[in-house]
Amino acid sequence: MPVYFRHSSSLEHDTGYGHPERAERIRALETELDRRGWLGWERREAPRASEEQLLAVHSREHVAAVRELSARAGAFDLDTPLSEGSWEAALHAAGGACALVETLFAGGERLGFAGLRPPGHHAERAQAMGFCLFSNVAVAARHALDGLGAGRVFILDWDVHHGNGTNAIFRESPEVLFASIHQYPFYPGTGPLADVGSGAGEGFSLNLPVPGGSGEDVFASLVEHVAAPAARQFRPDLMLISGGFDAHRDDPVGGCTLETSSYGELARQARALADELGVPVGVVLEGGYDLDALAGSVAATMEALADGGAPRPADRHPLAEAAAGTLGRYWEL
Ligand SMILES: [Zn+2]
Repeated sequence: MPVYFRHSSSLEHDTGYGHPERAERIRALETELDRRGWLGWERREAPRASEEQLLAVHSREHVAAVRELSARAGAFDLDTPLSEGSWEAALHAAGGACALVETLFAGGERLGFAGLRPPGHHAERAQAMGFCLFSNVAVAARHALDGLGAGRVFILDWDVHHGNGTNAIFRESPEVLFASIHQYPFYPGTGPLADVGSGAGEGFSLNLPVPGGSGEDVFASLVEHVAAPAARQFRPDLMLISGGFDAHRDDPVGGCTLETSSYGELARQARALADELGVPVGVVLEGGYDLDALAGSVAATMEALADGGAPRPADRHPLAEAAAGTLGRYWEL
């Protein structure tokens, strides 16, 4: 039975009136999953991340700053306010992602979802930003590498924003293949195609920027013709998805045009790839700010991940051709 990690502390991170990254997101998606019997998935309580897990990715000063700003309900910037409940929420969001990979490595279940907040992919080693406090997916990937015997982790980030935090944390590492499909130019301004990583990590950052208005055909093409073939050659031990749902056409923040069903299609692509590679796959929640679109898209993702089935073949889009031109130096695309 696939596993879903949640925790009530996700509701206690209060970002204030009018903020898109709000507790109602979790209520909306849990109400929808409840209505659908959680699609048969087993719910588990997300534990707190340990200090050791956090410090494997973040600086001691950063962890202390999150705790201190939470205690006095301060803010890192206008986008990233904290409340008294933020510290616990952030610990459980990172801890849920770690527990997810532990479950996937325990030898039983091969699929899971960590549905917690705050999101994480904008948080860098020593910097919170863009609604994110700790880099949940990076903490989980590091935990898999350092603590669970994984040699290589593939991260697919389909949030509409560039996962600058994840990218920065693993920029020089050949242990993590990071593929991000994101609207560009757009917040946070990073992630051009030419940014391929550096040092020993050169070629291990696959930044796949797309123009506003891009839809399923573009996203699916970039997965099929760029991210998937690179991942096959990378031969990961684990696949993680930074699951943001703000590329949905109804999202008030993003400017792309995915449908609810598009997330099912992306999830089918991910599942087919994971099956082919013989690796488990876990999704870590990132953005998604239209409540109905978020709830429906998360459910579509979980359903398609669990059911599997062949994804539709995607045409080789000109953006995939361009990406293959640049990234073809590192991977056979
Ligand atoms: Zn986003």
